[in-house]
Amino acid sequence: MSQVPTTTALRARWIVPMDGPAISHGVIVLSGGRITAVASDLARARRHHHDPLPELVDLGNVAILPGLVNAHAHLEFSDCRVPLGQPGMSFPDWIRQVIQWRRSIPRTKADVAQAVTLGIQELARTGTTTVGEIATGDWPADTIEAAQSIAGVTAFLELIGLAPERIADNLARAQHHLSRPRAVGSWRPALSPHAPYTVHPQLLAAAVDLALPTGAPLAMHLAESPEELELLATATGPFRRLLDDLGAWHPDAIPLGTTPLDYLTALSRAPRSLIIHGNYLSDDEFAFLAAHRQRMALIYCPRTHHYFGHRPYRLPEILARGVHVAIGTDGRGSNPDLDLLAELRFVAHIYPTLAPHQVLELGTRAAAQALGLSEIGTLTPGKIADLAIIALADPNATDPAAAILDPASRVVATYRRGERVDPIKVLTTGNS
Ligand SMILES: [Zn+2]
Repeated sequence: MSQVPTTTALRARWIVPMDGPAISHGVIVLSGGRITAVASDLARARRHHHDPLPELVDLGNVAILPGLVNAHAHLEFSDCRVPLGQPGMSFPDWIRQVIQWRRSIPRTKADVAQAVTLGIQELARTGTTTVGEIATGDWPADTIEAAQSIAGVTAFLELIGLAPERIADNLARAQHHLSRPRAVGSWRPALSPHAPYTVHPQLLAAAVDLALPTGAPLAMHLAESPEELELLATATGPFRRLLDDLGAWHPDAIPLGTTPLDYLTALSRAPRSLIIHGNYLSDDEFAFLAAHRQRMALIYCPRTHHYFGHRPYRLPEILARGVHVAIGTDGRGSNPDLDLLAELRFVAHIYPTLAPHQVLELGTRAAAQALGLSEIGTLTPGKIADLAIIALADPNATDPAAAILDPASRVVATYRRGERVDPIKVLTTGNS
């Protein structure tokens, strides 16, 4: 990372700050890694910026957006060229594929770190500067170092243990993870009790207890498939057969008649929680999330949802009910890429009633809030200078949000802490 604080002044056809209206022919000033001014012209920018301004760089027909925030990814799958399995397959069958994939290509820690680094590089290329990452192991220090210059990472350590005898071991790992040093907006540890079919309720409760003193967020996959609901309700079905085959079923972990609401209730004690997918939540469960929207967010992964052919997500209705929603790509094990803008374009395409600005919110401001990161997500003076710069296909666009969502527009640069990101450099750093 550059140690010398630099000042940059950029003019763009549109600045889309996400904390107010878009600014036509606006100017943004970045200094010392922070945004110091956002204004409609240079004279105003000077008034808001105390030191002399450098020469203004006019970027032409581009929109400047806050760096995109991907609320849910599994970067260790980033070396998958195509998703595992086939579109429309059942979710338990896909889990079997993942297990088979992991067993057929045993990977060292270095291999996993390399896949993670590939993922971070892809995020940078596609304008993403913050990610909620599910980590199956501790990231090596050099991967953390390489990641920080390119993206802020919330590393949710995945906890898996349905049997009571696995609780202690998971908690020891969780404790160690949470004790790793954090830097606001850079890399911080968090926990992910994986899913109802892999986590004993006592492990979930203990993870919440661990998170309470540090404020670390929790992420949990929930109500992802009909087979999961069947397992919770009746302890039968394809998930039960999968757990039996793995020797992982434990009858005490899921009492008959369990519902996703039981897990939502447990998670509502946490300082902050992210409910991943929620594809099959009930109306009462959406109401619960809406009532807890200050601390609980629902993370929709649109193209992964589509890959499995789940029932329609009803996103406009869920938003209208007051649920706090953000978008994630999920991992390349179930998604073609980690391009969050492609994800937002997919949302705009299948939900044409949503305003383009509202769609962009799901991958900027709302996603930052979901992760509990107050220093990113909008282009507000004082916040971290993370930007996505998008060349607009339409030279006469009057709605910049719609122009950004136009598939012909493209990300041409990413700024992280006021510095232009070079993804190739980061990849090399990660290899060192
Ligand atoms: Zn996931």
